Parts: sequence; structure tokens; C-alpha cells
Amino acid sequence: MSPWNDSIHGFYLDGGALRGRLVRLGGALDDLLGWQDQPAVVEALLAETTVLAAALAGGLKFDGVFTLQTSGDGPVPTLMADITSTGDVRAVARVDRDRLAAALRAVGSGLDDERPVALNPRALVGGGHLAFTVDQGPGTERYQGITALVDGTLSDCVSHYFHQSEQLPTVVRTAAHRAPVTASDAGGWRAGCVLLQRMPVEAGGRDDAAARDAWETAGVLLDTLGEDELLDPALTPGRILHRLFHGEGLVPGETRPLRFGCRCSRDKVEAALARFSRADLADMVQDDGMVRVTCQFCGADYTFSNQALDALSGEGPPGGDSGDGADDRPGGAPGAA
Ligand SMILES: [Zn+2]
Repeated sequence: MSPWNDSIHGFYLDGGALRGRLVRLGGALDDLLGWQDQPAVVEALLAETTVLAAALAGGLKFDGVFTLQTSGDGPVPTLMADITSTGDVRAVARVDRDRLAAALRAVGSGLDDERPVALNPRALVGGGHLAFTVDQGPGTERYQGITALVDGTLSDCVSHYFHQSEQLPTVVRTAAHRAPVTASDAGGWRAGCVLLQRMPVEAGGRDDAAARDAWETAGVLLDTLGEDELLDPALTPGRILHRLFHGEGLVPGETRPLRFGCRCSRDKVEAALARFSRADLADMVQDDGMVRVTCQFCGADYTFSNQALDALSGEGPPGGDSGDGADDRPGGAPGAA
């Protein structure tokens, strides 16, 4: 077994004027992706989205959920990953399989290709935007940042966002691959990310020539980090950071564990279904007489009988004598039990 932990490792350089996080995901990605049956090229995008979300959330003080989401017009318009302040990650993609197959065919690949081709993510997600949201629950203000999807990787979009809108210079390196099974390695999806930010003066940064030099140097050093190093299970996060930044006043920060976790529950599904009319619910009944709702993040199935739907909607079964005769009940609704 390799010493690969799903975790976020904070660090400081140059007396805290520069701050960063190194994130690694392995088993959590296998759990998150394993049941989804997505093409490998989409799995790679989801791995990158998830590790980026964790790296971004790792720099924020919040108590709730951080979400990173694309809205594009390409074959994979939506990539969405979220992470709770306690370290539960999950992710989902919306895929137009026909368009994706066509895009992959054009570069000599296909949906079943086990080795994802190196396609510009922009070609898959398309034009649109990337949004970050922090939701701390009812009664709190939602924080949201939005940036255009620029050419390049999602990491490039994130750097672009911080440069443009937050005046917080940021560099990000990410890598993701599915490691093959070997004698010493159980294999599986792995993703790594190093995110480095230059703090503004009011947050402990400095704005003198030495500080600008330190930022330049750290960026150059981060550029030397190879994808193979970031994803090498034999290299611990501490070892990687030491190799890169030992001459830059490296001080390790907080380390936090990550895991795959979904927040769905029967209560939440019931609340969602309760917003539909009883007639609409009747339309959702499947051949076995049940309404089945599958969580898009974890695959959990929630099933509801007609009696359960009656209780949810607070109405009688559709077609019952509701009295006013005004409900637009669907034709051919099954006779309720
Ligand atoms: Zn779920």
C-alpha cells in the first residue's frame, strides 16, 4: 500500500507573505467516481475539478459548503465539485454523450478509451463561466465569484479569476491520472494540486521589492514541479513542499483529512418532492408503482410508494374526489391503491 492520504496541507513562505495549499486525493476520488460510469476523459476533468475545489476551499474560513462549478456550452457543460468545511468532497458532471463522442472521434479517441486524451478542457466544457460559491446555511450571505472560462485548464481559469477580480495573485498547478495497478501499488485515480497566493498587505503581505522577488521566485520554483512528482505516491506532501520551497522560509500549516461524502438524505428528497403537485408526482410513478429518486452525487436510491406520496403532498391520490374539480390531473394516471 502506498502512503497516499486524501488531505489538504497548508503552508507559508516568506514570513506568511505567501500562502499555499497542497492537496492530494486518491481513494476519495475512486469512491466518488467509481459508481458514476463516466468516460475516462470526464473522470479526469472531475478529478481536476474536485482537487481544485479542495485547494480553493482550504484557504477560506467558512462553516458550510464550498462549490466549484462550470457552466459551459460544450459536450461536458457542467462539472461540479463541492466540499464541506469538515472535508467531505463529492462531484458530478453533466455530459452530452453524443457530442462528446464526436469531439473524441475528431482526435482519434472514443468514449471507451481507457486513457483519456490530452484535450484542452475548454474544448470539452466550451465557452461559459466558472463559479465558486460558499454557502454557510440559511440566514447567511452567500459568497460568489464568477469568471469566464478562458483557454487552457480549469486551473488557468482560477488563476485568471484571482488576478482579475480579487487582486490576489495566484498560481495553481494540478495533475490527475489513473495510476495502473502494479506489484507495489493498488492503482486508481489520483489528483494533486499546489495553489500559491500572494497575500495583500492588509492580510499579512508586503509590497516591497523583496516581497515581489519572493513571489517571482516561488512561482518559478512551482513551475519546476512535474506532474509525475505531484502524483508520485512515494513522495509525501511534506517532501514535495520541502523540495520546492526549502529556501523560501517554508513553514508547514494545518493538515486536514478529506474523504468522499454525500449530504443527501430521505428528508431532503421528500422536501424536494413536496414541491410538486400530486398530479406531477403521479406522472413520475414507474412500472413497479414507485417513484424512484437517485442521488446524482452518490447513486443512493430513494423510493416512494403511492401512500408515501399522498402523505408528502398532503392531498389525496390524484383522481380522488378533491371537490373543486379544478386540478389538472394527468390522463391515464394509475388508479391509486
Ligand atoms: Zn447522495
